[in-house]
Amino acid sequence: MKYNEISHFSHTEHKLRFEYSEFPFKCDGCKEVGIGSRYKCSICDFDLHMHCAMITSPTLHHPFYTKCNFQFMSKPPGDTPRYCNACEKDVSGFLYHCKACGFDLHPCCAKLPLLLDDGEVKLYLYRKVSSPCHRCGRKGRSWSYRSKCKNYNLHVACVRDMLVENWHEVCVKGRGVNSNIPSLRNTLYTPHSSRRSKGKVKKCCEIAGLAVQVVISAVLGDPTALIAGIVGSFMSRAS
Ligand SMILES: [Zn+2]
Ligand SMILES: [Zn+2]
Ligand SMILES: [Zn+2]
Ligand SMILES: [Zn+2]
Ligand SMILES: [Zn+2]
Repeated sequence: MKYNEISHFSHTEHKLRFEYSEFPFKCDGCKEVGIGSRYKCSICDFDLHMHCAMITSPTLHHPFYTKCNFQFMSKPPGDTPRYCNACEKDVSGFLYHCKACGFDLHPCCAKLPLLLDDGEVKLYLYRKVSSPCHRCGRKGRSWSYRSKCKNYNLHVACVRDMLVENWHEVCVKGRGVNSNIPSLRNTLYTPHSSRRSKGKVKKCCEIAGLAVQVVISAVLGDPTALIAGIVGSFMSRAS
């Protein structure tokens, strides 16, 4: 077996090969959208997020839920609809489930980095934040990433919502369609604080734009994905 190939229990017919996708794909494990690193069977067009391919342990402990004992499952238990505690989206494929509390996490949500650091922006993951989300204006809801300056909050759920809105086509109609790169124009450059002086708002919102890109790639299962470039090239094409 080559170093970049794996066998996976969810697709025993063929080996899966590591590749890097600049375009969104749908993970056949957790059924969520992904970008960047993936394991693929090109014979069957079968894709897995890195996190869904690399289930290294059947149990998971998360720092936000210290009393929980999450177990990996390839589909949700029972018949009732289940929702991810991190992003609030429904869970229909791979998940980590805590039997005692009934908590669920998508594999990619379970592995969201507690710190996203792309060199310019530092974003910390919180279970709850006390300031409103940049996108929806609400406080509670799902997990959030917050910038170090604390001016910028973004729900993991809101990132998912944006993806659902923008990438509906991709999920429903196929994969890797060049023209379906998300339109994030409004999200990226909306000033999120009116109290600040003009220059500061601009600087801060450039950071906000970067933050959105970093958070999106993390939520899509690969924080290192160069989505900034993709979004950037889309934006220059659109303008
Ligand atoms: Zn997945
Ligand atoms: Zn196959
Ligand atoms: Zn629990
Ligand atoms: Zn989730
Ligand atoms: Zn929000």
